[in-house]
Amino acid sequence: MKTKICTKCGKRRPVAKFKRRWKRITLESWCNNCRTIYDRTRPYGRWKRLASNLRLRYGVNFRYTTLRDQLGEPDTCYLCGEPIVDRPELDHVIPRSRGGRTSLLNLRWTHHTCNRGKHDMLLHEFLDVVEKILRQHRRPLFLASA
Ligand SMILES: [Zn+2]
Ligand SMILES: [Zn+2]
Repeated sequence: MKTKICTKCGKRRPVAKFKRRWKRITLESWCNNCRTIYDRTRPYGRWKRLASNLRLRYGVNFRYTTLRDQLGEPDTCYLCGEPIVDRPELDHVIPRSRGGRTSLLNLRWTHHTCNRGKHDMLLHEFLDVVEKILRQHRRPLFLASA
């Protein structure tokens, strides 16, 4: 049986206990159990706040229930894949400056820092930069200091 560790409770659970992400092949990083508990204790006010922020900033109208169901909890950064502990941000995968729309398919939760790093680059451009940086810093130390 395939299992997966929930990043919330830390328990290993069967993959059937994780919801599939909307329009994505990956699974949510919290198990259904943790998700239910979280939803019960957190009011939906934050989704309403998000809907009004998006309306004010980008002039788009989303129902808060649509945001909640389609974006999902801001628990994992789509750039680095690590859990988001605080300051979740929505990134335009295709930046607005590059013609990307404020649509649910173009918005993903990220870390503040990862989002700053990507800035107004397309994903493949950002990955090129990351690769160059890795190449530079993975050189053996005796060469770097020579
Ligand atoms: Zn869990
Ligand atoms: Zn990140």
